[in-house]
Amino acid sequence: MLNLDTILAQAGSRWDEKTGAISMPVYHSSTFRHPGLGRSTGFDYSRTRNPTRAALEQTLAEAEGGDGTRAFAFASGLAALDAVLRLFHPGDRIVATEDLYGGTFRLFEKLLRPYGIDAVYVDTADLEQVRQALEPRTSAVFLEVPSNPLLNVADIRAIAALAKQHGALTIVDNTFLTFCRQRPLELGADVVVYSATKYLGGHDDVIAGVATTHRPELAAKIAFLQNAAGAILGPQDSWLLLRGLKTLPLRLARQERSALTLAEWLARHPRVARVFYPGLPTHPGHERLRQQASGFGAMVAFEVADPAQVPDILAGVSVFMFAESLGGVQSLITFPAVQTHADIAPDIRERLGINNRLLRLSVGIENVDDLRQDLERVLE
Ligand SMILES: *Cc1c(COP(=O)(O)O)cnc(C)c1O
Repeated sequence: MLNLDTILAQAGSRWDEKTGAISMPVYHSSTFRHPGLGRSTGFDYSRTRNPTRAALEQTLAEAEGGDGTRAFAFASGLAALDAVLRLFHPGDRIVATEDLYGGTFRLFEKLLRPYGIDAVYVDTADLEQVRQALEPRTSAVFLEVPSNPLLNVADIRAIAALAKQHGALTIVDNTFLTFCRQRPLELGADVVVYSATKYLGGHDDVIAGVATTHRPELAAKIAFLQNAAGAILGPQDSWLLLRGLKTLPLRLARQERSALTLAEWLARHPRVARVFYPGLPTHPGHERLRQQASGFGAMVAFEVADPAQVPDILAGVSVFMFAESLGGVQSLITFPAVQTHADIAPDIRERLGINNRLLRLSVGIENVDDLRQDLERVLE
């Protein structure tokens, strides 16, 4: 088995035997000729299987775990999540991380709850809270590790073991660290989901989602759901994702280094009240992430001492861009309380620490001195 960076650098490069193309062709074909009655080239109709998407899914499966692992590409991260959550039925209960991505929370509350699937939210960084939330009808534990935006870290191995004892699946949203840093299937999780819009794509030019599993019965169900509900990733977007994946290890390493530099600098800044970055030894998730991951990612959140400064910071940045999303080569700054987490009730947001002083940085690949000077200027 090749190393991860080799697999990713050659994503889609050895697929086209006919021409030897080393860039995966984009198969804009909705349907495929049959050689004869009852015969197939392996491709019949692109919702079911498309060559460009298949090359992407094969790369992702190899990157996630190889042997027996399968990956499925969807039209967005939420489409991937929606497909995975269709594994469950009315009456089922899901225990979830309380400071979830806002769109995931909305999916749980506005689509699943009316359908009869109840989510209960706990601080999944606290194993005892997870233990107490598990009941006989709990069918899954859903984790975001680290969580968004406060970067709390759940113990995936311990929670997966606990869930298994209860006959519940463990699903991990691994968007923030990716398989380059954290490998939930190897820690005992059953399904991993990604917003591939973020680090996997990495260039803020495509909306995409991925689900992976190494459990054959779950893979068969997700494959069925992908085709039956049809929220597939198109061939052009599959190609963009193949292109992005090639440089993921390089991007992430650089982004992570800059994130640590900025987090350390922010932690010393007089106008900054608190910094949340798991790479800092003072972060409560630091030790756990050191054990279960091989890096700390490039997301940094911080609280300014004076909330009146927030509008000026957002309007004043000139290297960071004030925009939602994360994980791309370009650095972004977000105000979670009114953007990514607006769907969470204000009192819950406040309790979780997603308050009017909290800003979130997605650190890109720009020169870190330019990023630091940009923040220095707007904080003054
Ligand atoms: C963005 C995001 C999602 C949703 O993905 P889309 O591609 O925007 O549909 C889910 N989980 C996390 C952690 C995210 O950051």
